Amino acid sequence: MQRGKLLVISGPSGVGKSTTIQGMLTKHPDMYFSVSATTRQKREGDVEGVTYFFKTADAFAEMIQRGEFYEHAEYAGNCYGTPKEPVERRLGSGIDVIMDIDVQGAMQLKEKCPDAVLIFLVAPCFSVIEKRLRGRGDTGEADMEKRLKKARWEYEMAVHYDYIVLNDTKEHAVEAIDSILTAEKLRAERQTDLLKMEESL
Ligand code: ADP
Ligand code: 5GP
Repeated sequence: MQRGKLLVISGPSGVGKSTTIQGMLTKHPDMYFSVSATTRQKREGDVEGVTYFFKTADAFAEMIQRGEFYEHAEYAGNCYGTPKEPVERRLGSGIDVIMDIDVQGAMQLKEKCPDAVLIFLVAPCFSVIEKRLRGRGDTGEADMEKRLKKARWEYEMAVHYDYIVLNDTKEHAVEAIDSILTAEKLRAERQTDLLKMEESL
């Protein structure tokens, strides 16, 4: 059985990562969304165990000590981490995994899991990021400032990704990510079975 593909989606806060990932999950109901642990406060629409596992700082630190994370990072004053076991289990069973993690986390993952596919999502122009973030209406002014400041550095880091996808419309972005998944699955190293020249009896 082929190992599942791991798609890592990053991009500034408000660029549309959750929206695009939701589109991919609708298209691929068997795909697994990696639910991260975080110390940040729940926002409207967050569901424990579905969008995140919400942890206290102490509980998060214990998870780090027990080595439960694939990667973890601090973002805008809160901690975020990817639980290792659920992701490994799915990939090992041939299930594709999609995750929404920040640039620092993605760089750690690339080291640990070189066949992960790193995708950076951008908006049609930089000012649209702020518009979308404000439009979502769930981020306080101080938090917004931190996130927008970070967005500039994140754009600079995008050159380290495998792909850059424009989220002008949700449909285009989902189609582009779906094409990447298709192409990655057709890579020669995954297709050697098709090169057999002898019929097996
Ligand atoms: P992120 O997960 O990157 O923080 P979200 O997916 O929450 O971003 O999107 C931020 C806001 O932008 C949401 O209100 C969402 O509905 C909106 N949005 C996402 N993608 C698009 C798009 N292609 N066009 C217009 N609005 C979008
Ligand atoms: P938000 O608070 O808007 O849900 O997420 C803030 C940032 O944290 C986003 O850039 C998101 O990609 C990132 N993030 C979410 N989960 C993880 C994770 O498990 N690890 C890392 N490194 N970043 C994460």
